[in-house]
Amino acid sequence: MSVWCQGMRKPIVAANWKMNGSLELCEHFTGNLVRPDYADVWIFPTALHLGSLTDSLRDTEIATGAQNVWCEPNGAYTGEISATMVATLGAQLALVGHSERRASFGDSDEVVAKKFKSITDAGLKPVLCVGETLEERESGLAFEAVERQLNVVEEAWDRPVYLHEAIAYEPVWAIGTGKAATAEIAQEMHALIRNHVDGNGSGESQALRILYGGSVKAVNAPELIAQEDIDGFLVGGASLDVNEFNQICEAMKS
Ligand code: PEP
Repeated sequence: MSVWCQGMRKPIVAANWKMNGSLELCEHFTGNLVRPDYADVWIFPTALHLGSLTDSLRDTEIATGAQNVWCEPNGAYTGEISATMVATLGAQLALVGHSERRASFGDSDEVVAKKFKSITDAGLKPVLCVGETLEERESGLAFEAVERQLNVVEEAWDRPVYLHEAIAYEPVWAIGTGKAATAEIAQEMHALIRNHVDGNGSGESQALRILYGGSVKAVNAPELIAQEDIDGFLVGGASLDVNEFNQICEAMKS
């Protein structure tokens, strides 16, 4: 029985496959995914597999998206894909600002803001990823870092930024390390993010879904999702195993 009802923030479980996967994984995953009515399921495969996965999920409630797009709709950007191209496939979402893009591919705050705009211009929903490094957390600058990442996007884009979209809080030190943030640390940052969005005057902070990402597994999902301001997860490594992913979805019932 679904425990979600109108007026509540419906939880989201999002799979970020990073540079992993194959057509076989797409088939295995869609064939074995338990499709919950109490949570939204979003899948971000590689760009190579996005078209085929999107086609196979076309008549379902499961949404797909790109892990990354470039800022422009087309042009001389060898190796890149645009948000417009992603939208043409029938995908609905795009991640932007993932820390792996920021750290390894030079996505500065300004580039993230441009990408965010190109995603919304194309009619896709951006999932803005923010999060502090270990150094920033240890120096007591975690919220300043996250707030800077939010501000740059908000300043570059002058409409109510987050309506119907999600923000993913992903502390860099928790991604792929097996060391998830404690429920207390995650809740504290999620509440700060919601409070920050409240301050932008768009009146959307209560509807905004804020996802936690960073070493989420079936074992820690229940405690994290029990927190007031945690509305779901962006799951990396554990999302490659459909059984583990189904168990994380199951935790959304609690
Ligand atoms: C991610 O890459 O968005 C992520 C949260 O990874 P992991 O779950 O593997 O830490």
